[in-house]
Amino acid sequence: MSQRMRSQPMIILGDDSQRVQDEDAQEHNISAARAVAQAVRTTLGPKGMDKMLVDSMGDVTITNDGVTILKEMDIDNPTAEMIVEVAETQEDEAGDGTTTAVALAGELLKNAEDLIEQEIHPTAIIRGFTLAAEQAREEANDIAENVDTDDTEVLRSVAETSMTGKGAEVNKEHLAELIIEAVQAVTVESDDDENVVDLEYANIETQTGGSADDSELLDGAVVSKDPVHDDMPTDVEDASVMLLGEPIEVEEAEASAEISLSSPDQLQDFLDQEDSQLREKVERIEDAGANVVFCQKGIDDLAQHFLAKKGILAVRRAKKSDMEFLSEVLGARIVSDLDSASEDDLGHGSVRRDDADELFYVEGEGEESHGVTLLLRGSTDHVVDELERGITDALDVVSQTVADGRVLAGGGAVEVELARRLRGYADGVEGREQLAVEAFADAFELVPRVLAENAGLDPVDTLVDLRAAHDDGEKRAGLDVLSGEVEDTFEAGIVEPAHAKAQAISSAAEAANLVLKIDDIIAAGDLSTEGGDEGGAPGGAPGGMGGMGGMGGMGGMT
Ligand code: ADP
Ligand code: MG
Repeated sequence: MSQRMRSQPMIILGDDSQRVQDEDAQEHNISAARAVAQAVRTTLGPKGMDKMLVDSMGDVTITNDGVTILKEMDIDNPTAEMIVEVAETQEDEAGDGTTTAVALAGELLKNAEDLIEQEIHPTAIIRGFTLAAEQAREEANDIAENVDTDDTEVLRSVAETSMTGKGAEVNKEHLAELIIEAVQAVTVESDDDENVVDLEYANIETQTGGSADDSELLDGAVVSKDPVHDDMPTDVEDASVMLLGEPIEVEEAEASAEISLSSPDQLQDFLDQEDSQLREKVERIEDAGANVVFCQKGIDDLAQHFLAKKGILAVRRAKKSDMEFLSEVLGARIVSDLDSASEDDLGHGSVRRDDADELFYVEGEGEESHGVTLLLRGSTDHVVDELERGITDALDVVSQTVADGRVLAGGGAVEVELARRLRGYADGVEGREQLAVEAFADAFELVPRVLAENAGLDPVDTLVDLRAAHDDGEKRAGLDVLSGEVEDTFEAGIVEPAHAKAQAISSAAEAANLVLKIDDIIAAGDLSTEGGDEGGAPGGAPGGMGGMGGMGGMGGMT
């Protein structure tokens, strides 16, 4: 690219380049962004549908998770990618609410488009949206209710609300129990009486076979590996565990060095040397006092044999993440150089073998040990994967609730209340920004409308009922799609953490503003020919300007 520019200094844009400006640019971008939002909307809420995504390798993902859908869709359009970033930010910051954030961004842009058509300048819209987002966050904070973080009833509601409509739903009572226990196990009270939840100490492992109801919460870690040798012990009650970051093999430099042998004796010497080097390494492990070794790298056949003869249980090629988690569970240090290994590096606890599932349960002991593992089970890979996505979201929202104790009534209750309050606020806003604040308020009502729509209920009737209830001061009035009624959703157990909602408001507004700020699209011509041959890929809209029109194809996903 830069080279091309250098070779044609006088020409700013190539012959093939395309340029779209002002309203056309905005229209282009908005429709691309909206197509993305449209694609995930149908998954919102407990009655939302799932998407089946097939990647270019033919791998299938079946999911209801907003961020997963967008990531897997392989979107090749710059504006659409900005919307995907909303989902990613939401996922990183809050763990849940990705569909809401994206749908909200799409609706904000739709409403902005109407304002642009009425000759309202994008800068005024952006200013209005910024004011509205700020106000909405404040109002959300005001609407949020404090709950007792020991109140498992509320925590269960939060966990179950997050799981409804997901693969995890069928066994949500059991799973919610596990999630709450897991979060509580990794929560500590800080010096100023705040709850600090360290989810790094809560690991998730998945196992195919069995049903989600057989999922369990275990103290310690689960390592899905086999012993390297059949003659090794598999259960070690008084385990002294070494976590080894280097291989137990003949050292590279010596193994690859060229040697010239002139007699059979020399060959024997050489082999003996290798033999003794491995023997020495195994002795180092024994001398440090270890009877179990988890090795992140390989273990030579001969070393396996030596280890087995000494009655040491060894596992090789353990995952880096498993090694790090084991170090927390056992209070062990990862040894990077066997020569300097000592007893201090070891961790203590027990190791048990589950032959049927081909895994080890590793439990630590004492003060330095922390960590729990949620062992999720499901019949097939697709089931377990979607279960894991649902559980990760639920873990996040429960830990947020435990950490700050602020929750909101779900089922659209908070959105309708926010819309109502924002309309009130708009009255005091001067100029054209007022219209943008109102447009922002309207966008919130998308949530109850889509929840109703996805549940086969009438969105207009629902919204009318909801508005009336909120005008009567019923702040928690929302739609329970399971009963089909407008009611106090908090009481009905539909509860969301306030943090995720505030984050969704910010990320949606920022993305919408980013798209609105663009008034000029300049695309290098060769972009549009690139990727033009991959029309068959799902969502694989070709790049460049031609590709922008291709976004329309994505609307077909809904
Ligand atoms: P997201 O990716 O935004 O979390 P979800 O598909 O998980 O999307 O849907 C979340 C929305 O579903 C929230 O607005 C939540 O309040 C709502 N919800 C959850 N359970 C119910 C229910 N029983 N009735 C109505 N709405 C519900
Ligand atoms: Mg959710």
